[in-house]
Amino acid sequence: MSLTAIGIGPGDPELITVKGLKALQKADVVYYPASKLTETEENSWSRKIIDAYDLKCPCKPILFPMTGKGRDQFYREAYETLKEAALDKNVVIVNEGDLLFYSTYGYIQKLANQDKLECNLVPGIPAFVAASSVMKESLVDGNTSLEVMAKPDSIEDVKAALEKDISLVVMKAKFVKGWYPFLKELKRPFFYIEKVGAPEEFSTSNAEDLKDREIPYFATILFY
Ligand code: SAH
Repeated sequence: MSLTAIGIGPGDPELITVKGLKALQKADVVYYPASKLTETEENSWSRKIIDAYDLKCPCKPILFPMTGKGRDQFYREAYETLKEAALDKNVVIVNEGDLLFYSTYGYIQKLANQDKLECNLVPGIPAFVAASSVMKESLVDGNTSLEVMAKPDSIEDVKAALEKDISLVVMKAKFVKGWYPFLKELKRPFFYIEKVGAPEEFSTSNAEDLKDREIPYFATILFY
């Protein structure tokens, strides 16, 4: 039958394309990426989003480890599961944000390409794009360039990037230490946002708000 991958946006269930929603509603089974916490518990941002669609078909987790260990094996198994299910069903796999932007699905698509397996891809709105709409400022305009850093090694790397006359997006900001002292002294505007589109969304342009805040995984910082 078919394998369709859909980007479901960063958090607000309404930030999906019409094409994506139609494919979800026609699916025989929907898979979503999840991390295994314990034998019985899982954690999935995508699951929270698709719950809003009230889908009638079964929704099943594709489990990925939280750490990089054994990752390739998990991707291989996920790919084989999807491929087998797609033999006689319309299978949909969803991915938070866009499909191929620092995403889990990207690894699966690589395997599909090697295998020459036909897939339908429906892009989604990436978190940083949704974030600029909350910020209500252009992230880039005129002839400005944009750089995206995911999980920079240190604040020093962020500083070095900002020495260039560019706009910058930092993803996986949680993994960098020392945001507060750095942002407090920064002489250009920034916009911090976590869980964009979700009921728990929080954003600020004031470094003081980040003084004692624990930065979650779903946090992005824009410099414009
Ligand atoms: N495919 C996603 C990116 C996944 S990588 C996309 O297209 O946006 C995970 C990183 O994306 C997070 O560490 C965070 O920096 C960012 N991110 C994803 N969803 C987010 C959200 N709802 N709010 C803020 N940042 C988010």
